[in-house]
Amino acid sequence: MIQRTFELSSPDEISRIAEQIREQPLCASAKCKVLLAWTRQWEEEGFASFRQTILESFPDFTIIGTNYHSRSDILNSGVDPAESERGCILSFLLFENAGATLYGISTGYGEEEREGLELKKLIMDTNDPRGVYLIPHEYANCMEDVLKEIGDIRDVPVFGLKTSMQRGYRSFGFEPGRGVMEDCLLVLIFHGRQLNIRVHYNLGWTPVGKPMTVTKEENPFLVDEIDGKAASFVYNKYLGLRNEQIMPQNLSEFPLIIDRNGVKISRIGINGPGAGQLIFGAPVYPGDRISLSYGNPDDLFDEIRRDNADIADFGAQAGLLIVCVNRVMLLRERETDEIELYRKQVNEVAAVYGYGELFYLNGRGGELNSALVSVVFREDGPAAIPGCTDEADKASKSGTPEASAAESEFESTDSADSLFVPFQDRLSRLFKEMSGDLIMAVEEAKNANRSKSVFFSSVSHEFRTPLNSILGMNDMILRECTDGNILKYARNIKSSGRLLQELINDILDTGRIEAGKMEIIPVDYKVREVMDELAAMIDYSAGEKGLIFNYSVDEGLPVILHGDEKRIRQCIINLLNNAVKYTTKGVVAFSVGSSPVDKTHAKLHISVRDSGIGIRPEDIEKLSVPYERVDGSKNYNVEGTGLGLNIVKNLLALMGSKLEIRSNYGRGSVFSFDIVQEIPLMADGSVKKEIVDTSADRSSESLKTQNATILVVDDTLLNIELVKLFLKDSGIIIDMALDGDTALTMAADKKYDIIFIDRRMPGMDGFELHRRIKADTAGVNAGSVFVLLTADESDSIREQALAEGFTDYLSKPFDSSALEKILRKVF
Ligand code: ADP
Repeated sequence: MIQRTFELSSPDEISRIAEQIREQPLCASAKCKVLLAWTRQWEEEGFASFRQTILESFPDFTIIGTNYHSRSDILNSGVDPAESERGCILSFLLFENAGATLYGISTGYGEEEREGLELKKLIMDTNDPRGVYLIPHEYANCMEDVLKEIGDIRDVPVFGLKTSMQRGYRSFGFEPGRGVMEDCLLVLIFHGRQLNIRVHYNLGWTPVGKPMTVTKEENPFLVDEIDGKAASFVYNKYLGLRNEQIMPQNLSEFPLIIDRNGVKISRIGINGPGAGQLIFGAPVYPGDRISLSYGNPDDLFDEIRRDNADIADFGAQAGLLIVCVNRVMLLRERETDEIELYRKQVNEVAAVYGYGELFYLNGRGGELNSALVSVVFREDGPAAIPGCTDEADKASKSGTPEASAAESEFESTDSADSLFVPFQDRLSRLFKEMSGDLIMAVEEAKNANRSKSVFFSSVSHEFRTPLNSILGMNDMILRECTDGNILKYARNIKSSGRLLQELINDILDTGRIEAGKMEIIPVDYKVREVMDELAAMIDYSAGEKGLIFNYSVDEGLPVILHGDEKRIRQCIINLLNNAVKYTTKGVVAFSVGSSPVDKTHAKLHISVRDSGIGIRPEDIEKLSVPYERVDGSKNYNVEGTGLGLNIVKNLLALMGSKLEIRSNYGRGSVFSFDIVQEIPLMADGSVKKEIVDTSADRSSESLKTQNATILVVDDTLLNIELVKLFLKDSGIIIDMALDGDTALTMAADKKYDIIFIDRRMPGMDGFELHRRIKADTAGVNAGSVFVLLTADESDSIREQALAEGFTDYLSKPFDSSALEKILRKVF
């Protein structure tokens, strides 16, 4: 076969070219003659006359033509091209034995599947198909959906190009004897046993950084969200571009790379019509994983050199290069060097620039961007030079050597044949590997943290249930026993049990904070009362250690504040306990002050000072890391987990405050924080001075309720016994069931005022039992009060309980007052 390629700027030159072609020795004997044509920058009339001249000059050629772009056209995008930019490329292929047949497939919006099936049929009906050149009818035609349909065709490479519609997209075809084809998907099938076509896909950009996922789109060309955020964030964040700066000129070095089926495909998204939307020239689908990539000109050249080495092996006789305009943007003047490299291999190679390259082989590939697709042809006998394809090869290998070579390009960019690895290769490799390592490290850390949190919260949960029984039973011993020795043991059990309880709570709190599930629940509280209680408690433990305890409180404190009383208490107790823990002699001082912020807000100033061991300046930073304890030698005998200060820091942050630490190593420390709290007002606008809490008013009275009946369902007998002990003087009749089935039978016959149900029971769990009792809407207990007993303190369980219709829940371990509080709400 031979190829002759011409670049011309006027149709007048065509007759001269036609003469030259006729003079080719092969012209008269060629079995098949093909003319590949590309035109640029011709207005409607000029184009029509160009086409006419061609058809008249080459009536025995199969002709396929479309637009292309010139370099200056691309580099000065938008600027009207100079007259001299008008032109065309004509490339003639004369085959001795092979053939090429042109077809037109009608196209329509959303008809890609049908088009693909027709394409498949055309290829399957061809004897020895060797390659397919495609020219889409319209730029918007989704060629990936068309190509999908030929996924199971083996070893027939498909190539082609899309060009811009900007200045009028035109394509046309002509098949001798069948006439002109227009307004359709043009399909030129090359065939013949002695024809070899090798198609090579070159990219050269290296993906770097974290892969992101396309999460929402309007259609495959308009992407709304990536990783759940406005799609433009990819360029806003990583390239520092404002939306209006998201244009090809700023993106050419950094196209996005999609990994589809292990094939790296580039995409460039420019600022779309909607806010944060990106518009792509080729399809992007939800679930596509994309990464930014790094383009180094030398990487691109290295890949082209490897391609050229392959082409030299192949012994190409003709060639076609389909080059993405993005390569011109990146390589600028050097882009012509790429083409020159090919020219050294194939003198008459035709090179055209487009906005989307097509390459598809053995079910992989699609619409490409930023790529250079090289197509080379050779026509010879079946067993000619190495690398040729014949039927025997096909039978013995999974793909033809040509097909395999092209495919391997998808997977490997190694230059295994050279000892010297170019700097850019190493640099890109470094980026790639480092980002891979980082991604793995982050994933591992996330998984480890997740399993740690799950482990801790389930272990803590498992501890709570037995601890509940131990402490409850111990309470009864303390109440009823008179033996001094036993009472001493029971008190020890109580204090160790409380410590264990605090530890479990701290672990659960830490898990909740790490999971972002810690909630701040503001209530009205009496500030002075809370502070006095805390002071009294610490006065006692400081006294036991022989420490002086100083408590000073600002007399002007607001009476009532609105904030999360429980969490504020927790913070202060932690600081006070630490002060006592880490002080062996001297003073612990607790001071509470306040200052007005505005009419409805006050700032509380809390400070805890001690004359204890102090903290080294370099250790202060470490204090808020969970499980971190400092100064091990001095603290060796002090019990602790290193969780407290981390919880305090996080709780304060959630409440808009910050822990301040000042310390003088060996002399003592001051832990302090300021926290703004709301001053609640009455309906008339006056400051609230009282909290109305009816249950508190009655708390001194002990609960005495005749004729009330409750049912307690729990698989742990001890827990039921506890409830019985707590309520033994109340007069309440208590029935018990150790499993759901028994409870169901009992609840079918007897009316209970309250049914307490343990959540975790073997067989039927608490939620199911509740649902089944309630399912009997006419049953005696349809209107009863249900209370869930749970050792799981998580908000989700509480929410579930209330959502499922439980009136209340009791967290284990509970004491008699918590139980009484629930009962008082009912009786
Ligand atoms: P824990 O007391 O359980 O170890 P914390 O998170 O409360 O955990 O405290 C972390 C570390 O901070 C302690 O182990 C201790 O080294 C140091 N620390 C905390 N409070 C004081 C204090 N008042 N004086 C000296 N060191 C302290």
